[in-house]
Amino acid sequence: MPELPEVEALASDLRHRLDGRAIARIDIAAFSCLKTYDPPITALNGGFVDNVSRHGKFLDIDASGVHLIIHLARAGWIRWMDEAPKLPARPNSKSPLAARILLDNGAAINITEAGTKKSLALYVVRDPADVPGVAALGPDPLAETFTREVLQGILEANGRAQIKGVLRTQSNIAGIGNAYSDEILHAAKMSPFKPSNSLDDDELGGLYSAMRTVLDDALSRADGMAATELKSEKKRSMAVHGRTGETCPICGDVVREVSFADSSLQYCATCQTGGKPLADRRMSKLLK
Ligand SMILES: [Zn+2]
Repeated sequence: MPELPEVEALASDLRHRLDGRAIARIDIAAFSCLKTYDPPITALNGGFVDNVSRHGKFLDIDASGVHLIIHLARAGWIRWMDEAPKLPARPNSKSPLAARILLDNGAAINITEAGTKKSLALYVVRDPADVPGVAALGPDPLAETFTREVLQGILEANGRAQIKGVLRTQSNIAGIGNAYSDEILHAAKMSPFKPSNSLDDDELGGLYSAMRTVLDDALSRADGMAATELKSEKKRSMAVHGRTGETCPICGDVVREVSFADSSLQYCATCQTGGKPLADRRMSKLLK
């Protein structure tokens, strides 16, 4: 799933490509992805693109005051085409194409979603805050106003909730998902199960700077990359996320995995949990 650094890079790539362009029309191939009906999707037709920006993990294409908001979800992606196909995009259950944005110069952007679990979402709104997921977003961790005190307030407000879940909840902090929360906690040498309100001053400082460093580094690597390169770059740069059984680049211990909520998380026991592997609650339940 694309998270803050990838969505930011996609936004900046599109901002350059769409500069001075107008939207000719949008073809919807997977009707379930369009979540709004007023204004209609045709309200975008003929609109000059004023800006492309990001809210958390949402992309926002502002075409003369009508916003197309895109949430790529778990398996969504966008692909640039210098030349749009002659035939209009049509519903086809075998194709990953969800929608196609056609531009006034003959180029197009394909919005695709792989897999069978469809959760990609498109919204056409006059104000980004009309999208419930955007309105509910917490502060952006890369904003200048996101100080150490802001992080402290968020952690304390979440009581004894496990810090891994707190970091990736969009209403707490916007844009961090399963991958970067693993990476941030690894960089901070902190257990993903640590209660959110239990950090001392050093731990808070360490987590804050790990969050900034991990996101800033990812952002500077992704900046200027085309959409096609972003996914492999993200995968390559991970220290623990998605690397179960591989070697921790910091200490050489094996990267472990434990189930968490609806998926799993990866961590290094030596770096993060005093050498003690975390108990997999789902697994031990199954074995009983
Ligand atoms: Zn380690």
